[in-house]
Amino acid sequence: MNLNTRISVPERPASILRTLQEAGYEAYVVGGCVRDSILGRKPQDWDITTSARPEQVKALFRRTVDTGLQHGTVTVMIREEGFEVTTYRIDGDYEDGRHPKEVTFTPNLEEDLLRRDFTINAMAYNETMGLVDLYGGLEDMETRTIRCVGNPMDRFGEDALRMLRAVRFSAQLGYEIEPDTMEAIKELAPTISKVSEERIQTELVKLVTSDHPDYLRKAWESGLTAIFLPEFDRAMDTEQNNPHHCYTVGEHLLHSMLNIRPEKELRLTMLLHDIGKPLTRVTDEKGVDHFHGHVEESEKMAKAILRRLKFDNHTIDMVGLLVRHHDYGHDFRPTDAQIRKAMNRIGKEAFPLYLEVRRADTLAQSDYYREEKLENLRTWEDGFRRSLERDECVSLKELAVTGKDLIQMGMHPGPQLGKVLAALLQEVLEDPAKNEREALLRRSAELMKE
Ligand code: ATP
Ligand code: MG
Repeated sequence: MNLNTRISVPERPASILRTLQEAGYEAYVVGGCVRDSILGRKPQDWDITTSARPEQVKALFRRTVDTGLQHGTVTVMIREEGFEVTTYRIDGDYEDGRHPKEVTFTPNLEEDLLRRDFTINAMAYNETMGLVDLYGGLEDMETRTIRCVGNPMDRFGEDALRMLRAVRFSAQLGYEIEPDTMEAIKELAPTISKVSEERIQTELVKLVTSDHPDYLRKAWESGLTAIFLPEFDRAMDTEQNNPHHCYTVGEHLLHSMLNIRPEKELRLTMLLHDIGKPLTRVTDEKGVDHFHGHVEESEKMAKAILRRLKFDNHTIDMVGLLVRHHDYGHDFRPTDAQIRKAMNRIGKEAFPLYLEVRRADTLAQSDYYREEKLENLRTWEDGFRRSLERDECVSLKELAVTGKDLIQMGMHPGPQLGKVLAALLQEVLEDPAKNEREALLRRSAELMKE
């Protein structure tokens, strides 16, 4: 293992540390940036912890933002970049929100590190003192372990979200959760219900977009998904006695996430694409399971789940669209016109994502007819690529005539105009050569008379 304990702090945060130290305060970079630097990963942001009080921090820097003064956090701006500088503190219990109910400032770094969730997140660093690792973070990184700082029952009692964070860090780093920490999660899992959906959403997204999205299984084993994603537990309990499948519905969902890029919409689509299967399962007289209507049910449930977890509309719409089409076209060999019609329905931007979803789904099924399924998918992929290369019209905005043109020809705005445009588009989807202005204007004159 190649753990590096000499951290090279970039110039901007390093200058903040210098300014604080020259004014007589202690200051360190802390938490995620120390952990990621030791791992040789690029930190997302450089957080700073200091003995200086917020007013004292503000007095030292020209431009600051009061991000969370009551929690001791001031954002120091260097050009357009902000750095969170937080006073050493001891946390009380967390409420539903993102921050503890009450905090007490302390002059001791030791106490500030003690309030942090996991040993790997409780290390600090500066040039003078080097790595400050009071709770065995480095050792836990060597053995690839997620372990609470202090007693896990107490720490999860203060803030239940930490249980899901344990699974999230485990998935991001490929680490195991230390047995006492895991036992405490199993014991306290139901208390995750106290945590706001927004905080759960943040951790769930980090978990499913990590290198090990299938570690969601740990959240299931420990009883966490039973509370915030019970639909997933039902999927884990649903067998698929069908030659196309080799996993339960839930295991199929986990494997399908592994087969797709770590993009939020794609991973959430795979997580939810068959979530309606448990409700639609019918076993025939031969003992084979069928799931008629599972696509519609899955789309409905996926949207409801994402809404419940307070996802934004863009994410809900995109995942809904991809779940709705995840099975589309696997059962026929498409003509070019059928591919253009699918591009029209799904949209040019979402279409490559739809193809990725189908591939990931197929690769998480049994190998029954796999070559044929992939061959069919290649027909769709090739057709899509050719259509793009030819720059074919697949939507109203690419049509060679517009509503304005029809109005200039004397047509009144209204539903009839929309119908004529839609009819023209249908003809162009059938035959792209028809996307020619003069011909379309003549054709629309005919259609208007009908
Ligand atoms: P990421 O790379 O995802 O940002 P991070 O470790 O920086 O990971 P943050 O959520 O940004 O995680 O939190 C920054 C630091 O604050 C953590 O490393 C940890 O020390 C502390 N921390 C954050 N949330 C909690 C919490 N709920 N309980 C205790 N400590 C926490
Ligand atoms: Mg962070």
